[in-house]
Amino acid sequence: MTAYMDHKDLANEVIDSARAQEIADGVHRVLDRIATAETAAGREAGSVRLLAATKTRDVGEILAAIDAGIRMIGENRPQEVAVKSAGLAKRLGERGFSLGVVDATADGAVAGAAAAATHIPFHLIGQLQSNKIGKVLPVVDTIESVDSIELAEKIARRATMRGITVGVLLEVNESGEESKSGCAPSHAIDLAQRIGAMGGLELQGLMTIGAHVDDERTIRAGFAHLRRTRDQILASGAEGTAGCTELSMGMTHDLAYAIEEGSTIVRVGTAIFGERAFI
Ligand SMILES: *Cc1c(COP(=O)(O)O)cnc(C)c1O
Repeated sequence: MTAYMDHKDLANEVIDSARAQEIADGVHRVLDRIATAETAAGREAGSVRLLAATKTRDVGEILAAIDAGIRMIGENRPQEVAVKSAGLAKRLGERGFSLGVVDATADGAVAGAAAAATHIPFHLIGQLQSNKIGKVLPVVDTIESVDSIELAEKIARRATMRGITVGVLLEVNESGEESKSGCAPSHAIDLAQRIGAMGGLELQGLMTIGAHVDDERTIRAGFAHLRRTRDQILASGAEGTAGCTELSMGMTHDLAYAIEEGSTIVRVGTAIFGERAFI
């Protein structure tokens, strides 16, 4: 168990109104930043989706973000997914939303209500060790952090056993920084084509984390390269790559650059919830 989880009850559902307002203000500020960047880049309004990166935040904080307009969430750690998902799914259900994979074994009324609800996509955006796949598969729709054939094959095997299809993004380490996960950019096209051909997986796009530098040109070059890689994968016409359209790139400090370079999903934590007290 990660140490910070001992300091905060992540299943907590009740937060005070001042904190809820702070989070709502954060959501609205980020939505404004996205709209401004879309306009500046000459892109259609609404072409970039906002994923709230919810690591270290409790259920109450995540619900406040959803009440303020968040429609996609991402967790980094399987343990956090496990601690929060039941409470989140329940409270979201009360609001007319569904979260995660709809349980095929649920009774008709439950399944019907879930089908009618607006679905909130739940992504895993942090590294996944293969022994944790079973923890996240019943809950998350999409795993953004697939960066090797070995991991993809293991997820595919589990998904096939469960009779489900899991969305995946191939994570690419565009900056080459050693601290970062992700495959080498030179391997991305080959890996994407092999993942596209696997049963149980749906290749939805590519993901990267921007270079940890101040230089705008360096940050943008990584994003632009990810976009070109996606375009080459699509142009290849290889089996299972036609849906490889998403570009998950851009966080609190670089989302405007990412949007100008073609991002379709920005993953934002700090600008919504404030600085993290842990990690
Ligand atoms: C934490 C995290 C984010 C959000 O980062 P902020 O700088 O807080 O916006 C996005 N992507 C990943 C993979 C993360 O771990």
